[in-house]
Amino acid sequence: VPELPEVETIRRDLARLLPGRTLLNVSVADPAALTGHRTRPDPAAVADFIRRAEGGTVRELLRRGKYLIMEFTDGGAILFHLRMTGQLIVSQPDGSERLRLGFSGGRTLCFRDRRRLGEALFCRDWREHPRIAGLGAEPLNGGWGAEALGKILRGRTAPIHPVLLNQKLVSGIGNIYATEALHRAGILPDRPAGKIRRGEIAVLAGAVRDVLARSVRNRGTSMDTYVDALGRKGRSQLFTAVYGKAGGDCPACHAKIRKKILGGRGVSYCPGCQR
Ligand SMILES: [Zn+2]
Repeated sequence: VPELPEVETIRRDLARLLPGRTLLNVSVADPAALTGHRTRPDPAAVADFIRRAEGGTVRELLRRGKYLIMEFTDGGAILFHLRMTGQLIVSQPDGSERLRLGFSGGRTLCFRDRRRLGEALFCRDWREHPRIAGLGAEPLNGGWGAEALGKILRGRTAPIHPVLLNQKLVSGIGNIYATEALHRAGILPDRPAGKIRRGEIAVLAGAVRDVLARSVRNRGTSMDTYVDALGRKGRSQLFTAVYGKAGGDCPACHAKIRKKILGGRGVSYCPGCQR
């Protein structure tokens, strides 16, 4: 499941390959890729996407939360969200693509997505798009820290784990990195967010930043279908302490890692070092 480090890794790869290239042809094999749910948009919407996207020259690749933004020199942009199984790979098409973007210089960007939950949206002004404008704090930005996280958590009665996953509050974090950050900070995932003490908030803010930054350095976590923009797996899964390890031993204290359901997700934690 691509989260901030995986999207950031793909962004960095594409930023080396695509700026300055012109999008010459767009092929939409699965029109539902333009809506994010498995309903087909009307043919006019597909034609409109193609008409607006074709001919654009890529200026920059940007990221906000789990969104990858392909910005064109005229200010228009395609927003990609990979959801569960989306992949964006510069490669030869093999017929499994939902979308194919052919660029000048002969490069093709293939959007593959086994579960078909991802999406690609064209927008004139991506910063004002409701999906982007409503996103919460960016944990790898300068504004992140104890003070910012403290404001987010204040007065909240919900457990901390789902609060960290709420994209309107904090953007880019999913189950992998919330689980790892809470373990690193020594905080149980079901603690009410508003009851976490000041000193713990500072540790947690640092842990969130550290697990994300470390994963970016390791080019993301490949436990399922995630690969980078050249189709290569990341290495961050080699360093996870508790995510996906229920029943195993905690690498820090050797207690048995447990799992509980929180916000509809299985969340791993260590009863030895998380309080
Ligand atoms: Zn432990």
